[in-house]
Amino acid sequence: MTSDGERGQPERELAAAAQAGIHRLAIPTPFQVGRVNAYLIEDSPLTLLDSGPNSAKAMDELEQALAARGHAVEDIELLIVTHQHIDHFGLASILARRSGAEVAALDLLAPYLARFGQEAEADDRFAQAIMLRHGIPAEIVTALRAVSASFRAWGSAVEVTRPLAHGSQLALRDRTLRVLHRPGHSPSDTVFLDESRAILLAADHLIKHISSNPLLARPLLPRAEPAAGAPADERPRALLTYLDSLAETRAMELSLVLPGHGQPIADHAVLIEERFRMHRRRAERIRGLIASGPASAHEIAHELWGNVAVTQAYLTLSEVLGHLDMLLADGRVVEHERDGVVRFEAA
Ligand SMILES: [Zn+2]
Repeated sequence: MTSDGERGQPERELAAAAQAGIHRLAIPTPFQVGRVNAYLIEDSPLTLLDSGPNSAKAMDELEQALAARGHAVEDIELLIVTHQHIDHFGLASILARRSGAEVAALDLLAPYLARFGQEAEADDRFAQAIMLRHGIPAEIVTALRAVSASFRAWGSAVEVTRPLAHGSQLALRDRTLRVLHRPGHSPSDTVFLDESRAILLAADHLIKHISSNPLLARPLLPRAEPAAGAPADERPRALLTYLDSLAETRAMELSLVLPGHGQPIADHAVLIEERFRMHRRRAERIRGLIASGPASAHEIAHELWGNVAVTQAYLTLSEVLGHLDMLLADGRVVEHERDGVVRFEAA
């Protein structure tokens, strides 16, 4: 249902990226999000940013896409991982083994990638505790855990040989990539700025056709001991972190944003403003819902969306908790815990 004009736009932007030696390779995933964008950077070293999930289908299409540009997997010299989600890094270990490529990722992410199996297991335990604490019925929590365990095969542990510090530079022959940590969608989101061209490789930090879901995730580093009186199991404020990260990106002068899914973004500041308004609107709607009485985050999600698919339960919970965190930060909502379940109430 797009007009020719709309279809023409991404083509022009992809052509501009290609002119800069950056080629989008859209790789299939088994997930609801659809294809994931890997980017081939024809420079020295020959670089691939993200890789797609660990599946034969993804590998097959990646090989074809590389071949269409005259390259083989064995030619890749540098692999960059943008964040901890398996649709982005699942193939990295196989690619690194076959090509001998270096693997670069944010330093904070390296231990997670090296121990992916155990880390994913710990993520699931963390998610399980959050879900129970926010009113999701135990049978849904159990079902989701099974789903999550079955997804794990699309990931694979990979050793990072070039850990990157936030703010550092990755120098290629024809460009310098500035490494910027922009947590929120996940704790490890890293964006890469091609400095001379003002092109931002943004992965899932900013996506044009969907609002990136700030999933509640385990922090990458053990957090400091909670201050006396603070709740011991305080959850991460993923949406607040994400909004701060978006504000930093909005302030950048960019010619083009190349995201991890979907089409390039030419007007990132306008899109980010839209996202700010949307999150504010959703927070207000939730504030309206609980004006009539206290509710758990699960009850609020149910009120908003009815019975969602089991696989969506954690996404919708993360979304509601994110908006509740906005209201809590403004002092317009308070939370109380009773019998292990948290309820939110208008302040
Ligand atoms: Zn992601």
